[in-house]
Amino acid sequence: MKTPLDRPEILAWLRESDSNRLAELWQAADQTRQRHVGGEVHLRGLIELSNYCVRLCGYCGLRAPNRQLERYRMTEEEVIECARKAVQFGYGTVVLQSGEDPGLTCDGVEKLIRRIKAETPLAVTLSLGERDDDELAAWRAAGADRYLLRFETSNRRLYEAIHPPRNGKTSDRPAILRKLRELGYEVGSGIMIGIPGQTYDDLADDLERFAELDLDMIGVGPYLVHPETPLANPENCLSIPEEEQVPPTELMTYKVLALTRLQCPRANIPATTALATLNIARGRELGLERGANIVMPNLTPSKYRMMYEIYPAKACVRETAEQCHACLAGRIASIGRQVGAGRGDSRNFERRMEK
Ligand code: SAM
Ligand code: SF4
Repeated sequence: MKTPLDRPEILAWLRESDSNRLAELWQAADQTRQRHVGGEVHLRGLIELSNYCVRLCGYCGLRAPNRQLERYRMTEEEVIECARKAVQFGYGTVVLQSGEDPGLTCDGVEKLIRRIKAETPLAVTLSLGERDDDELAAWRAAGADRYLLRFETSNRRLYEAIHPPRNGKTSDRPAILRKLRELGYEVGSGIMIGIPGQTYDDLADDLERFAELDLDMIGVGPYLVHPETPLANPENCLSIPEEEQVPPTELMTYKVLALTRLQCPRANIPATTALATLNIARGRELGLERGANIVMPNLTPSKYRMMYEIYPAKACVRETAEQCHACLAGRIASIGRQVGAGRGDSRNFERRMEK
């Protein structure tokens, strides 16, 4: 298969339903992954450090107006304890993720980063939402290596509909992604698949945008309905012709995952928890066989996991960090792949740095 694919080819794959033809797509994505990032699967220990959030994202259970949710914020010692576990389990990276929580102050996060960097060999990825430029700069100076911020959809109208302004300020994730690049972070972004109002053309735009942004990490996962959010009510959704609506299915997720690998061969691409939520038995394995090279075992203490409910029935909320570790190591071995050693920096980033 010739890559990168042009737009008509992307659109044709997104609408493809023939399983023999799709087998060609899976094979092309798997071979491209092997050629450009190898057979290793890198593990990122996920620490969901706070579920407080000031934002109003129309799809997410952590959104500020959701009063059904009990809120928590981990202490510094709890986070450091998780980072120690990551080292013990042989992970190369911890991902500090949270709602957009002003209670996680600039100084507080900076201190956490400095401690993790001083006390462990771990790479630190942040996923703390839309923070100010000076905070992003301070955290980078403190040693943070990577930042994840999905742009969710490149359709401006849909984006604005699902990201209402906060205090009169509209959210501008593409501008933040540019800033992160300027600051020297490895930059990660991504989308949800099957957002109500998302068309096949929108998805093709998203796939083109990944390549334009030259992303180092790309997360794509299905949109899952949360009943306590505006998007759960069809009246709040952008209305588009039924045949244009992208379905939020497992199959569509694999297609987008495989096409992402073909468009961005050197990026780090995870098999996401949202995908595992749709297919707990085989979702992660199939993701790894159709373009992904990363998984994110959860390190969050059990007492907090249930409260980080971005969507219902999330995979692995009842497991402990030890159980997640053993389970994922077994799954990776079962498909004949090896757990990667070291930090697992993005080949895309390394190549950019060499230029
Ligand atoms: N607050 C940070 C942010 O928004 O970037 C990080 C945490 S947020 C929960 C991480 C990602 O979860 C979002 O970028 C979004 O793509 C995903 N997410 C939120 N609600 C979701 C839903 N209902 N279905 C699938 N993914 C969802
Ligand atoms: Fe908050 Fe992130 Fe959820 Fe938006 S997606 S409501 S910023 S946690």
